[in-house]
Amino acid sequence: MFYDQTEQAVLTELATSRHDGLTKQTAEARLREKGPNQLNVDQTQSAWLIFVKSLKEPLVIILWIAVGLALLSASYDLWVLQDTKHGFGGLAEAGVIFAVIMINAGLTYWQGAKARRSLAALQSLAAHQVSVLRDGNWQKIAAEALVPGDIVEVKLGDFIEGDLRWLAVHELQLNESHLTGESEPVAKTVAALADETTLAERTNMGFAGSSVTNGSGLGVVTATGMATELGQIAQMLQAAQPKPTPIEQTVARLTRQLMLVALGVVVLSLSYDLGKEWLTTGQLTLTGLMANISGAIALAVAAIPDALPVVLSIVLTIGARLLAQQKGLIKALNSVETLGATTIVASDKTGTLTKNEMTVTHFWANGQTYTVEGNGYDPVGELEATTGVTDPAAYQALMQSAVLNNGASLQQDTAQRWQPFGNPTDIALMVLGEKAGYNQAALQQDFEICRVLPFDSTRKMMSTVVRHHQQYWLLTKGAPDVLLERADHVQWQPDQQKPMAAVKATLTQQIANYGQQALRTLAVAQRPLTAEAALNGDPADLEQQLTLLGILGIIDPPRPEVKASVAILKQAGVKVVMITGDHATTAQAIAYQLGIIDTPTAPVITGPALEAATDAELTSLVQETCVYARVTPQHKQRIVQAMQAQQEVVAMTGDGVNDAPALRSADIGIAMGINGTEVTKDAADLILLDDQFTTIEHSVAAGRRIFANIKNFMRQELTTNVAEVLALLLTTFLITQPIGHVSAMTPTLTTIMVLWVNMISDSLPSLALGYDQPEQALMQVPPRNVQQSILADHLLSRVLIRGGVMGGMVFGAFLWAAQAGLSTAEAQTVAFLTLVFGQLWHVFDARSQRSLFRRNPFQNRYLVAMVLFAGIASVTVTLVPFCNTLMGTRPLSSGLYLAVFLLPALPTFLLSGLKEIFRIEWW
Ligand code: ATP
Repeated sequence: MFYDQTEQAVLTELATSRHDGLTKQTAEARLREKGPNQLNVDQTQSAWLIFVKSLKEPLVIILWIAVGLALLSASYDLWVLQDTKHGFGGLAEAGVIFAVIMINAGLTYWQGAKARRSLAALQSLAAHQVSVLRDGNWQKIAAEALVPGDIVEVKLGDFIEGDLRWLAVHELQLNESHLTGESEPVAKTVAALADETTLAERTNMGFAGSSVTNGSGLGVVTATGMATELGQIAQMLQAAQPKPTPIEQTVARLTRQLMLVALGVVVLSLSYDLGKEWLTTGQLTLTGLMANISGAIALAVAAIPDALPVVLSIVLTIGARLLAQQKGLIKALNSVETLGATTIVASDKTGTLTKNEMTVTHFWANGQTYTVEGNGYDPVGELEATTGVTDPAAYQALMQSAVLNNGASLQQDTAQRWQPFGNPTDIALMVLGEKAGYNQAALQQDFEICRVLPFDSTRKMMSTVVRHHQQYWLLTKGAPDVLLERADHVQWQPDQQKPMAAVKATLTQQIANYGQQALRTLAVAQRPLTAEAALNGDPADLEQQLTLLGILGIIDPPRPEVKASVAILKQAGVKVVMITGDHATTAQAIAYQLGIIDTPTAPVITGPALEAATDAELTSLVQETCVYARVTPQHKQRIVQAMQAQQEVVAMTGDGVNDAPALRSADIGIAMGINGTEVTKDAADLILLDDQFTTIEHSVAAGRRIFANIKNFMRQELTTNVAEVLALLLTTFLITQPIGHVSAMTPTLTTIMVLWVNMISDSLPSLALGYDQPEQALMQVPPRNVQQSILADHLLSRVLIRGGVMGGMVFGAFLWAAQAGLSTAEAQTVAFLTLVFGQLWHVFDARSQRSLFRRNPFQNRYLVAMVLFAGIASVTVTLVPFCNTLMGTRPLSSGLYLAVFLLPALPTFLLSGLKEIFRIEWW
């Protein structure tokens, strides 16, 4: 019950200090005692459900039917025909298929759990951060390490990470809808409340899970983890199940269709066999039906790419992990594919395209221009007037205002190094102040901070109310064009002011000058206030009738690597667009330096122009524009929607809390891992762990690569299914008389051979395709069309042709073996190995959009290892007696082994060769 106590009582009870926070030792001890600040939502419940669900997948249903048919045929053999050999063979077959179902379900479950764990581990890389005071220093720590008694500071866009009692609030408002269901923000206070106050009315408390929608605040943590109000209701929270990705949905659809094809093929082949029996003998017998069943089972199993869903999910997870190594963190597997299809990257400027290391290099005050020496955060450097005569009194008010109306801190650590904390614009001003001899702590002795109206990117201003010798002042800084509108006077000499109208043109020219030098501009102003207005005035009324004190030119150099990334993206057919809150001229200058625009005068659309445009006008404007300046977060959402109306796939960055809606609208919302607010990170699909634009380029490339790899393994898996079905069907239709030792009812492959090919010799190499490097040209072609099916681009025709030829070859090998007088099992083994090696050669072809001649086969070491393993394992099962009994394989002569190893390479080499020579795209 902290809300009904005084601030001091709360601090005493929690044994902490408002000015120094906890010590490191106390915090560690409390963390050990209370445990990490996290919610333990029980997820174990669903584990069994996932397992059971995977037993009901369409693919698995086919396998269940196969088990049923195998048992039926075994019982018939055992009890009706008294044929124990075939009977036990049938039972073994049912047992193996059952085992495959269980292994498959186990794998699906294990893989699902692993993918979730992997994603969770990745997401912990972007764990929420909190600003806490420990041992007298402000620092950022992971929210999980928060303990009761910690003093924390929150600002716009932060989440509240534990339950807090407020100690100081500045226009603080929180969204507490998750607890109260009330979507209106709640204004926060600090005074103690009555004992009986309900949860929703405890305005001096902050609750875990709320977000800051306005202002800032300082609070002491009263509870963490499961002890918070959110923890009390956490049991009711459902652990979110990951949604299937579009590719997973496509594959699910495809497998359902294939299931129908499988059933159709089975019915067709059985009716054909029975029809044939009726025509030749004039009757239908149960024995005849049972004799044909094993071929039908093999067919059903053959038509289904059993391993496809598991392989797909593994490949997507591999992709997400590889992306994270490149500092791009995706939140849902979905985004991996969308990334590859991105057609527009819309990036903000500050911090993403530029270094966000701000230094004031120029300023204007009292009708004079000045330059500032020095680099980085080291506050040494001379301030010199360009006229040569520098009068420090002339910029005193400007410096005081810049330092006092400032949310950053700049302190020296024990090693005398300067440690900045806070937002880079504010830090730059602190450094400037120190250079001019104005220290924040020293100034605060004379100036009492009464109220703070924090910066937000819609207002583009920040203000602080201070009291100095009984007089209240409003100190404001912000975008110059905004402040110029709100100022009616300009300080011209220390003791002289001019009306704004008289000097506006001069100032506008000055701002444009700085902009052309790619300097970010900021204006500083002040106004005297009455006590009433200062303490209780509506914030909207305060920032008016200002007196402008000066204009600052801040350098924020472009990141050197961005220019190359912009060029690569452009080459990949992806348009790069800058959307910034900064001044049009500055934006234009930087955009030109980075190659986003090709001429220094390319058009820039500003926020006001956007507002004036109708939706239809905007839709055509966005086609020609690459730079948007002075935009607010609300404009961003309109821009995204206008782009999407043109069928563009938009990836958009954002860092402020108000950017969240635009990020949600974009196809890929991108947040900054370091400087982004927690709310934007929550809304984003991709988090740049290093805040760098280059990571976006890498992510787009990774997205394309993963999509290409998925296509490659689909090509491989589906070719196998076509080959298997065809090999089986050709035998059913074409072998009507016994040949040698082989009866007319013998299927080309036994069911277990088909299962082996699907589960082992085909899917393991397919999996390795997930690790493939991109084909070189991947970033030199335009983005793929998202509307297009994954089977488009000749994938289907290629699968049918390759699969058809391969199936024909397997049938040919079987026929040849039968005619050569080999036993049934030997003939089936020849067919089996022909298929296995045919596929193992083909996998090198499947990994290229064109053909195997275009890629170094040894580049992907996993693939080579998997192919070797699959080849050796497949030969082994023909040699080991136990496998012989189970699978129906037999050892072959060494000449035959050589033949089934080498000859199946022919179709792949031949078809690819013809494709290369005649440039035939579709096979
Ligand atoms: P981008 O949108 O590319 O990140 P930006 O940082 O300039 O660029 P905003 O953060 O929306 O965009 O800032 C808009 C303008 O507000 C800036 O150009 C600057 O003039 C002013 N501004 C920025 N930071 C502050 C601050 N801390 N206090 C007061 N004004 C600020």
